[in-house]
Amino acid sequence: MAFDDVRSDVLIAGGGPVGMTLAYSLALKGISVRVIENAPGCLEDMRASTFHPPTLEMMESLGLLDDLMAQGLKAPIYQYGNIGTDKFYSLDMTELEDKTPYPFRMQCEQYKLTRLIAAKLDAMPNAEVLFSHRVANFDEGANGVHVSVEGPFNIRLFHADYLVGADGGNSTVRKWLNVGFDGFTYPESFLTLSTDYPIEEHLPWLQQVNYVTDQPKWWVLLKVPGLWRVLVPQDADASDADVTSDERKDAVFAELLGTNEKVPTYHRTCYRVHQRVAKTFRRGRVMLAGDAAHLNNPLGGFGMNSGIHDAMNLSDKLCQIYLDNGDADALLDRYDRQRRTITREFVQKQTIANKHAFEDAVTAREAQMEKLLQDADARREYMLEQAMFKSLERAEAID
Ligand SMILES: Cc1cc2nc3c(=O)[nH]c(=O)nc-3n(C[C@H](O)[C@H](O)[C@H](O)COP(=O)(O)OP(=O)(O)OC[C@H]3O[C@@H](n4cnc5c(N)ncnc54)[C@H](O)[C@@H]3O)c2cc1C
Repeated sequence: MAFDDVRSDVLIAGGGPVGMTLAYSLALKGISVRVIENAPGCLEDMRASTFHPPTLEMMESLGLLDDLMAQGLKAPIYQYGNIGTDKFYSLDMTELEDKTPYPFRMQCEQYKLTRLIAAKLDAMPNAEVLFSHRVANFDEGANGVHVSVEGPFNIRLFHADYLVGADGGNSTVRKWLNVGFDGFTYPESFLTLSTDYPIEEHLPWLQQVNYVTDQPKWWVLLKVPGLWRVLVPQDADASDADVTSDERKDAVFAELLGTNEKVPTYHRTCYRVHQRVAKTFRRGRVMLAGDAAHLNNPLGGFGMNSGIHDAMNLSDKLCQIYLDNGDADALLDRYDRQRRTITREFVQKQTIANKHAFEDAVTAREAQMEKLLQDADARREYMLEQAMFKSLERAEAID
């Protein structure tokens, strides 16, 4: 396949987990890829840390799973809890062991995946990752896409059959396509903290994955190797500097743990969170995937996972085009239909409901959990939905 200093079969804007997964999946099949990444390397991004079982199966199919597992931890149990009423409900994914070889969430930070893939692409003759380079602009010709890329010292023109915008929520590719990105932005911000402080010594009910409320407050508490991650909403009108200040950090831990000890943190980041879906994931030879195509709140761990599902779906379509002489228009339109439908019908709906369950629908969730604990079939259906098996099955059924 065509690959030289300026040409590749596919050019990918963005080397986050979605762009990197797509690049590696295509490169393994002999398709040439160039990834353009704005950052100077795979930065220590503390957003996603949950990999759901179907995503683990995809990682296995790419030969990445063992390396990832070595850097993550298995969390078979996730829990919803109400600190105020002392009611806690655990769901045990080992009940899905007949469905998947990986009946657990793997807790592993997203930068471990991007670093792993970047090293592998570096050793492949048909792949290149250019860090500190930014897709500035592109235009589509009859036979391909011409992409202007700004580096530290110059602007270069690259050519490819296809361009994929995997360049995150602020996607330049989506903006140049002038594709609408309808939805809304939550007024509050979200503070994430990570600490090696043993918070389990203060919280006897703690599991590795916890969604807990003490109304009107709520927290997500997740274990990753060597650290606890805490996600907690913050006042809409607080500045980012306030949200990440020592005072705010101390207040969060005092409230959660009931201690005035100074808890050390490794990361503190303030995020704005959106629910948005691009009007189309494909225009001509340009596709959108991952956060460039859809954004959602982090409750349930669906953002990166669904983006990786986009990447694997798109990779499959491009492989059919290159390797089986598939009908490009029909296949790429199907990519758009399958992944956009799932985004709207599952990822958006479920994440909005998950946040609602922390706020107005706490009693409804408790009633749902009581029922699930009594009904093994309903519990299995619920866990298959939350583990994203059902969304993939629904996507596959869309023509
Ligand atoms: C607090 C928080 C917790 C989360 N936890 C989870 C979780 O547990 N599980 C989960 O599934 N999801 C989670 N998410 C969502 C997840 O982080 C994102 O969905 C995921 O990072 C999307 O990957 P991506 O590759 O599409 O985009 P990104 O990770 O945003 O990567 C895009 C890349 O493109 C680069 N870029 C941008 N513009 C350009 C340009 N013009 N040219 C070249 N490069 C460019 C950027 O530098 C970046 O590296 C969480 C999100 C937040 C905010």
